[in-house]
Amino acid sequence: MGGNMKKILAINAGSSTLKFKLFAMPEETVLTEGKVDRIGKPDAEFTIYVNGEKKRESVTSDSAPEAVNIVLDALVNEGIISHLNEIDGVGHRVVHGGEYFKDSTIINQSVVEKIDELSALAPLHNPANLQGILAFREALPNVMNVAVFDTSFHQTMPPESYLYAVPMDWYRKHHVRKYGFHGISHKYVSQRVQQLLEKPEAKVIVCHLGSGASICAVDGEQSVDTSMGFGPLAGLVMGTRSGDIDATIIPYIVKQTGKSLEEVEYELNYKSGFLGVSEHSNDSRDIEEGIEKGHEGCRLAQNLFNRRVVSYIASYHALLNGADAIAFTAGIGENSPQTRSEVIQALSVFGFKLDEEKNQVYGKERLISSEDSSIPIYVIPTDEEIMIARDVIRFV
Ligand code: AMP
Repeated sequence: MGGNMKKILAINAGSSTLKFKLFAMPEETVLTEGKVDRIGKPDAEFTIYVNGEKKRESVTSDSAPEAVNIVLDALVNEGIISHLNEIDGVGHRVVHGGEYFKDSTIINQSVVEKIDELSALAPLHNPANLQGILAFREALPNVMNVAVFDTSFHQTMPPESYLYAVPMDWYRKHHVRKYGFHGISHKYVSQRVQQLLEKPEAKVIVCHLGSGASICAVDGEQSVDTSMGFGPLAGLVMGTRSGDIDATIIPYIVKQTGKSLEEVEYELNYKSGFLGVSEHSNDSRDIEEGIEKGHEGCRLAQNLFNRRVVSYIASYHALLNGADAIAFTAGIGENSPQTRSEVIQALSVFGFKLDEEKNQVYGKERLISSEDSSIPIYVIPTDEEIMIARDVIRFV
């Protein structure tokens, strides 16, 4: 490795997990990765890969600073680095950047305050992301920290994509608009497809189908529309989230059942989607197994999921005035030939066609369309961590 090699840590701090991946840049070699799980619980656990081997141990980790120290100590004790000053930069995934952050940014006090302020828009995510940031600033005071936002990529959407048709004061005073999420993934996958096509200006429909799911219409470097909205509940049917529903259902159910608004919101986030419709599981593998065994709820849940994916792809194909490619990514997108097959068959009016043999692929990059498909269709495993590391390198 050359003299300009930099070691960059990519961090994803959730409410009870801290995931990390250490890269040697610009080679993009993964030096190690791992996580602290169940932070704040008695059965907290630390995992790290050392020379390709997974090591696991029980730890006491009651807070983000403790979790960060566990990770940093292990990097040195396992001999992955010899001193903490070898770390040249830390990149943090932050879910909500609001309208403040149209790009990744070096973290200073004002950035910390804005991420904190945006917790009102992302109460489940930004506070945890911020705790991770503060813990690293304390543990490595001389190292540059960079925030990489899930919303930034979508800041290029035009107003007709991001505005809701509600009183404009909701937007002006209360920031109600479509922000979109999974931006780091949509950007990575669209760039990868453009690279494969050798066409940086290519228009790509990216289908990020995981337990959270969203679709994005990408035109060159720009997101022009995406299926998630003000929050990550909108758009597609997900593992436990409803996706798009008529807003009047919420006050109606509150009145009919006497449940609180919070309970109804909880059910839309955690009791809906695959789980709610199938009455069986939130996991697409269980849904597929259920379908095989003739479970009607599973078949119905998959049909609802497919229908929504098909509608968004069709609509974005029109919006882009003809996409150049479609890409599938994330847990379901990368690992479910059946879902890909059912979705693309339902879009045959556009001439989209899979090669069913090539479609038998799991978690690997591959062109899966047939030669006579009107546009190429790909499976592209997403890599949000490398996008974070690349953004840090821009500033170091
Ligand atoms: P993610 O949120 O990207 O980790 O994706 C989680 C979803 O991907 C879950 O619904 C999993 O069931 C699904 N998934 C992961 N591996 C497979 C697989 N081999 N076949 C079908 N679905 C899978």
